[in-house]
Amino acid sequence: MATAADLLGSGDDQLEGGVLEAIERAAQASAAQIGLAALAGVVDWAGTATPAHASCPDAGHDARLVARRTKTVRTLLGSIQTTRGYYHCATCRQGFAPLDQRLGVAGTSLSAGLARACALAGAEMPYDTSRRFIATVTGLDLASTSTLARTTRTQGERARDLITAERTAPGPVPGTDIKRPDLCYIVMDGTGAPMLPSQCQGRPGKDPAKHQGRAGTREVKIGCFFTQSGCDPDSGEAIQDPGSASYISTFEPAAIFAVHAKAEYHRRAFDQIRQPIVLGDGAKWIWTIADEQFPHATQIVDYYHAREHLADLTKTLAPVLADPAAFEQALLDHLDLGDTPAIAATVDALDLPQTAPDLVKPAATEVGYFTGHHHRMQYADFRANGYYIGSGPVESACNTIVKQRAKRAGMHWTIQGLDPVLALRTLHQSGRDHILWTTPHT
Ligand SMILES: [Zn+2]
Repeated sequence: MATAADLLGSGDDQLEGGVLEAIERAAQASAAQIGLAALAGVVDWAGTATPAHASCPDAGHDARLVARRTKTVRTLLGSIQTTRGYYHCATCRQGFAPLDQRLGVAGTSLSAGLARACALAGAEMPYDTSRRFIATVTGLDLASTSTLARTTRTQGERARDLITAERTAPGPVPGTDIKRPDLCYIVMDGTGAPMLPSQCQGRPGKDPAKHQGRAGTREVKIGCFFTQSGCDPDSGEAIQDPGSASYISTFEPAAIFAVHAKAEYHRRAFDQIRQPIVLGDGAKWIWTIADEQFPHATQIVDYYHAREHLADLTKTLAPVLADPAAFEQALLDHLDLGDTPAIAATVDALDLPQTAPDLVKPAATEVGYFTGHHHRMQYADFRANGYYIGSGPVESACNTIVKQRAKRAGMHWTIQGLDPVLALRTLHQSGRDHILWTTPHT
């Protein structure tokens, strides 16, 4: 057999690449074998202690040793067999293996390390891509696509449970000597996730021609919480405090989302911050939550949504406008000053009932968006105070948490299947993976 040195000296570029990978793979396989043997040794040793009695995990009853049983555990280095004591609790009428609990493999055949790798990959990529990714990186066939999907869901459900448990835990104790940011933001938005028909029964869609009039998506509500300590000294633009963003996500209706939002507000100790600000688009549920849960907050309609509505209004009125661009600019100047009555007056001056009666109603709807949100569109004041006026952070969160994973071509989900994935992605995006995994991440 040619030595690695011979092969690398052959001068054939393509062969060299192939040789390097062959060496790489061989080295990886032997490292895994050595590691696996070490792991098996430790687990074997741990399994040798089998006292005649043990405490049952649920209630601490005295349980009796039944037998030594063998179980296969799949790890990041390959599969190992563990032979450990198996006990039976006569009171609870259930069997258990204390070692499984200690190793974190009770009720599963995947080690914590492999489960974490599967869940991390499954939360980021389609399940089949995840399986191939893990196989390529480890050089081992560790988990089928279905195992990987199931593991991601199990870990995601665990993430949801941990998030819920935090919600009912007592909030942080306010410190007196901590320097707090001056402003905090609660940004809310909704985005549709593509669903299987079974998930949309009895829900009318926007387009009666599609899915037999049924909705094809279900709304995920997203909340983004961040703080601001100041503005850019050169541009005067508001700057989000780096690393200050955390997120919540749910398929639940607005009333439940409101409870989650309030809990996150307290978890973040936002009640200790001078000025809370709620930012959102025109959706009614957002402002209901703002009024009921955050009555002291300043409310701001996303400036870029407002501008889109100005463009829509101009498009609607185009048939009666001599210079649509100039008209839109005039409206924009009013908007920048928060002068929504001037927007209404500009449209009134067109005398639509005389000039274009069919435009009266659509124009009134658009004008109503501005006059109805008047106090949420005081952009000149908001800018002067150094506030954020765009909901960009939450839109990018919708994109990252929901769209990048759930809205790929041909994907259709069940809520049960997608919600755990969103829980994992929400934690990850918030930089809070540590509540799910006890060992530090790499
Ligand atoms: Zn028991």
